[in-house]
Amino acid sequence: MRTGTLGVNLSGLLPIIRKYLYTHSDVFLRELIANGVDACQKLLAIAPSEGLEVSLQDLKVEILVYPAKRQLVIRDNGIGMTEDEVEQFLTVIAASSAREFAEKYKETDIIGLFGMGFYSAFMAAERVEVLTQSYRSDAPAVRWIGDGSEKYEIELTQRPEGRGTTITLHLTKEYDEYAQIWRVRQVAEKYARFLSIPIYVEGGAINQKPLWREHATSLSPEDYKKFYQLIYPGRPDPVFYVHLNMDYPVHLQGILYFPPLRPEMMIEKNGLFLYVRGMFITDQLSEILPPYFELLQGVIESSDIPLNVSRSQLQVDPTVRKISQYISRKVADKIKELAETDRPQYEKVWDSIGPFVKYGIVRDEDFAKRVKDFALVRTIDGSAFMFPEYKAKASTVKDQKGSSVGFYVNDLKKQGALAQLFREKGYLVALADTVIDPYWLSYLEVHENMRFIRVDAEEAARWLEATDSENALSDSEKQAVKEAIERLTHLRVEPQALGPKGPAALLLREESQRRLYEVALSGESPAPSRFVFNTQHPIYRRYLLSQDIRWLEHAIDWARLLSGDLREAELQSFLERDWALLSGA
Ligand code: ADP
Repeated sequence: MRTGTLGVNLSGLLPIIRKYLYTHSDVFLRELIANGVDACQKLLAIAPSEGLEVSLQDLKVEILVYPAKRQLVIRDNGIGMTEDEVEQFLTVIAASSAREFAEKYKETDIIGLFGMGFYSAFMAAERVEVLTQSYRSDAPAVRWIGDGSEKYEIELTQRPEGRGTTITLHLTKEYDEYAQIWRVRQVAEKYARFLSIPIYVEGGAINQKPLWREHATSLSPEDYKKFYQLIYPGRPDPVFYVHLNMDYPVHLQGILYFPPLRPEMMIEKNGLFLYVRGMFITDQLSEILPPYFELLQGVIESSDIPLNVSRSQLQVDPTVRKISQYISRKVADKIKELAETDRPQYEKVWDSIGPFVKYGIVRDEDFAKRVKDFALVRTIDGSAFMFPEYKAKASTVKDQKGSSVGFYVNDLKKQGALAQLFREKGYLVALADTVIDPYWLSYLEVHENMRFIRVDAEEAARWLEATDSENALSDSEKQAVKEAIERLTHLRVEPQALGPKGPAALLLREESQRRLYEVALSGESPAPSRFVFNTQHPIYRRYLLSQDIRWLEHAIDWARLLSGDLREAELQSFLERDWALLSGA
């Protein structure tokens, strides 16, 4: 045995490596598996010219754990190394790539995908032992032992298994979880299960078929569903998927899934997995995807995505842009195809895909061009129209400037009664109750010459105006009622004929764009600003005859009830007053 000293300055390296480990505690295992896989692939590549008989099935990377000894072993039967190669690769190349990594990590916010290779073993181990034998028949086996410092030991020895490399990690106490089979299997599956070289954890193979590399035409919806369950076990089935296969100018394959939309998903940005040559790299892909697809799931595989650059560089990178455009186009095509070929199914999945699609329309002009005519508008009576169909129907209602008017509710529970009045008048009332709808409606107002009016907006009352004024109050009666209500509500009060069977009164809100956004962000409706009383409703005559203010209080509560503003305790006093008034008490 002899000892040696690395020709590379490693001082200060380990603290940086360990700091990195703090947030990426498991990547060292990825690096070591990758080295084993590379060694197998190198052997396969040289086999023909070296006259070796090896095929893929003969090769493997095995992972073994010894909890009592706190050891983790990664063993391959790949190309192996000679003594010179050990000196060269492990003490020069490996050390330099580790140093380069640490320097880069210090100076930029690299997204952490640039591997540091063999040296990352020292993230988790205080001592690393390499036992290797080259494929060259005359080469003796070599043992190399290092502790992360510049000093190492090396000796010629035997390797009972023959060709290949065994890396034994003597784990530090903090990382002894990597001597546990469940933990190692979990990490190996996360990174390596789609590799083509067989990978075993304690004797059990973990490899799975990378479905995304298969031809879409040879796969059934069931295959896609099963694959989804493999990568997201226990989640509800996806509603929609898109198979990606881009050849030029970027090579990329993958499967995107639209998960069924659940409220908590808006915060749980999750997992689209990036693979490079079968190895899992990251699930932080927000810089690569168009932002409106951040909630998508699935896998993407590509070697062309630049991974050693900072986040800000990624966003302007031409390759990343091309990928993003490609994905957006594929998703748009698939949406169009489903909308045109299977309308019932499309309507069924719309509640899940609609928010993505609307967000995409608002954010990306190209995407909008492709899909805007396939956006569905749901109405409160349960029908669904493609946007052009909806617009054609809405076009019978115009405002003074000639824009088509669409009425909508954003909270059916609160605005449902009011919406019903519009429906009875023959108007379509759209349901716009997702977080993205205010933005989408604004988009349509700008691009489609439409106006959207919420049923409780100030302007809305005009559309409920009765055509005749049968039994209406006289001018002086109107004035008396108006003044009395003003004293009670401190709102702007206006008389209007809403029909003999119309509501007693309406509470309305200002609807400016600003409000629209506030509504979306806080979930709170702006406070009512205007009170319209129905000059044809009998309740006001009752008041005028009796001068009993309770009739007006009652009308006010009716209006609040209609717009969802009557709270529980107030409802109680409303009911008591109702009983008292009707029984003449
Ligand atoms: P990289 O893999 O990025 O080249 P590493 O630090 O991981 O850098 O490894 C340095 C070199 O050591 C590799 O290029 C390879 O030649 C050699 N090596 C590492 N692990 C193995 C192994 N399991 N079998 C054969 N050679 C290996």
